[in-house]
Amino acid sequence: MNVREPATRDHAAMQPTVTLLGPPGSGKGTQAARLRELCGFTTLATGDLLREARRAGTDLGRRAAEYMDRGELVPDELIVAIVREAIAALDGEPILLDGFPRTVAQADALAGALEARGRQLRAAVLVDVPDDVVVERISTRRQGREDDRPETVRERLRVYHRDTKPLTAYYDERDLLRRVDGAQGVDAVEADVRAAIT
Ligand code: ADP
Repeated sequence: MNVREPATRDHAAMQPTVTLLGPPGSGKGTQAARLRELCGFTTLATGDLLREARRAGTDLGRRAAEYMDRGELVPDELIVAIVREAIAALDGEPILLDGFPRTVAQADALAGALEARGRQLRAAVLVDVPDDVVVERISTRRQGREDDRPETVRERLRVYHRDTKPLTAYYDERDLLRRVDGAQGVDAVEADVRAAIT
């Protein structure tokens, strides 16, 4: 049995855990990278984890691929298992989640996974960007991602509104929601995100 020292648990409990919410193209990834550099957060970006699994040709990657290419969410049980494992490996480190949770079921699972490690969510920061700005940004970024085709972007947005947007009420009820205007310039968004999590 793995018996943890109380001091280690206390230390882990003090490390902040933050999640960034927002539509595709809202700039969550850009902000996550800045917070990693400037504030020492370890970033857990589920989209990156899944793309890595695909490149590596793992079972998870193969199963996730069909959903990703359609602009749909991968099933909760696939993603929850890897996030839970990743969180357990990050005891004592501040964690920034990018792209997780995306459904209410994932949010409940996150709360349980954090509690199991003596952690609590400090804030859910909504990087809010209107749909027309999202479509414009993604069509000009064109990084060659399979799921950046216009019809897939529309589907990702539809899924965002249906499955992920309800998390704003979920976190608002728990007093954890912080809203940031993601249509501003990158530096202004960063300043607001930092203010929201400290
Ligand atoms: P974006 O925020 O631009 O949509 P991501 O890289 O976060 O891009 O996600 C890309 C795709 O990966 C999603 O459309 C979805 O298929 C899958 N994905 C990422 N995170 C999750 C998650 N938490 N739950 C289910 N699917 C996810």
